[in-house]
Amino acid sequence: MFKKLFDLAINTLYPDNFTCNFCHAEIFDDNGLATCEDCDMSLPKINGNICHRCGDLILDMATYCEICKFEQKAFEMNRSVFLYDGDIKNAIRSFKFDNAKYWHKSFAHYLAKAYKQYDYNCDIICYVPMYKDRQISRGYNQSELLATELGHILKIDVSHENLVKCKDTKNQVDLNFKQRRENLSGAFKVLDKSKFKGKNILLVDDVYTTGSTLNNCSMVLKKAGAKNVYCLTIAHAHQKD
Ligand SMILES: [Zn+2]
Ligand SMILES: [Zn+2]
Repeated sequence: MFKKLFDLAINTLYPDNFTCNFCHAEIFDDNGLATCEDCDMSLPKINGNICHRCGDLILDMATYCEICKFEQKAFEMNRSVFLYDGDIKNAIRSFKFDNAKYWHKSFAHYLAKAYKQYDYNCDIICYVPMYKDRQISRGYNQSELLATELGHILKIDVSHENLVKCKDTKNQVDLNFKQRRENLSGAFKVLDKSKFKGKNILLVDDVYTTGSTLNNCSMVLKKAGAKNVYCLTIAHAHQKD
């Protein structure tokens, strides 16, 4: 009891000091974003008119971007917080490839803000899975870390290891439309379909690049009986017009 009171007094007198993940300046009023006000202001957030399907920034007032106008998607929508550019691009790359797992908390808080901003209403959270061997060599799946933290913030259940990747695939970026489809064909599957039946699923990933991976996972989730699939990603690799 005494120890608890003592800790409370110490924490009130000397609150934890947090630092900005970008510039390492001290933050006194932490809101989970781990980003100081100056850095937050300068990050390339997606503001303005966006494609109603994939969430990409579009310059005119059209409803869909030039890609979504012609390509059907299996998900209802994707929204991304940032453009995949500058400091965000560097941060995501170190999050994925340099073992900088600490980024997941800040990014999950940004995703939680977007979840509320865009009025998502989902029953369960899923993430884009990695092929087993790749995950073993990286040591973690960054999208799973994001989904887990997001579930914790939003108090929504996270489904682990039910949507799985059963085939190793090439990087989608270097492939054309037809090759992308073949590359991902049969790459994902759902182990226990009853867990997704009739559910509104929130599908989390780090970057929206071509949308093929999210689309493929969504197709598999829909086949498993999911009612709707809503995607949420940290950043969008804007398709320049
Ligand atoms: Zn900063
Ligand atoms: Zn689009």
